[in-house]
Amino acid sequence: MERVANAGRACGMAYRVLAAALLSGLLLAGLCPGAASAAESAPGFSWPAGARAAVSLAYDDALDSQLDHALPVLDRHGIRASFYLQLSNASVARHMAAWRDAARRGHELGNHSLFHQCARSKPDRGWVEAHRDLDTTSVEQMRDQVLLANSMLAAIDGREERTYTAPCGDTLAGGRDYLPAVRAAFVAIKVGSNGGVVEAMDTLDPYAVPVLAPNGMSGAELIAIAREAARRGTMVNFTFHGIGSDYLAVSAQAHAELVRFLAENRSLFWTTTFLDIMRHVRREQARLPLAPTSSGAP
Ligand SMILES: [Zn+2]
Repeated sequence: MERVANAGRACGMAYRVLAAALLSGLLLAGLCPGAASAAESAPGFSWPAGARAAVSLAYDDALDSQLDHALPVLDRHGIRASFYLQLSNASVARHMAAWRDAARRGHELGNHSLFHQCARSKPDRGWVEAHRDLDTTSVEQMRDQVLLANSMLAAIDGREERTYTAPCGDTLAGGRDYLPAVRAAFVAIKVGSNGGVVEAMDTLDPYAVPVLAPNGMSGAELIAIAREAARRGTMVNFTFHGIGSDYLAVSAQAHAELVRFLAENRSLFWTTTFLDIMRHVRREQARLPLAPTSSGAP
């Protein structure tokens, strides 16, 4: 009898809950027609000024050929880009004024660590010096050095917000992922490669942005990759090294063709610093209902 009474009470409660749910649904649908479908009707991810894609032109390692062949072309076309300085590179000390002037003209100076540690154990890594081997560097050492690199960059350009490109895309310091120890100091981090074109903006992890490092590609090939980003409505991250000389190089002509194409198609391509692009991406992701739960966002 008691069980029957309990069952009756439970049933009544379930009925009231169901009725309340139905009623609230009817109220939402009838009195607040926009409320029930707010999530579905939120406008999707978009770029500023109706652009179809964002393009990040980045240059790693602080190479002289970037000062000689990339910066003049970028400045001539009014395109801002990102230069990821390896701060121990002699070019930084030798051309400090030039790097500082580039920042003054609106280019981004990004963090590429002090010593560019990469994993010597990987294939074709004989060039990694023993004292700069990420395999024998601890997470704590990388954290201290990467944070110090931020301070040094601030001393050069006076800015506070920063992005990071992991040298060689390697993340294991002494066998442990060091990126969680430095994420909070950055708006975004580039790591790994996938061809450079992001598949979907709403699910992109700002702390695992893929890049393309062009090597010997023609202007037409580079432009085709930018067009692919526009077709997808996403972004492309070019990470250059040598321009016209140095290593992993593309010719100065191929690079200039890409920059000219982007400058002539500003309505289609939002080409600016990786920092500005990723600040926009994070704002859009926060606005969208399906924003990813980022791993350790500050
Ligand atoms: Zn590098």
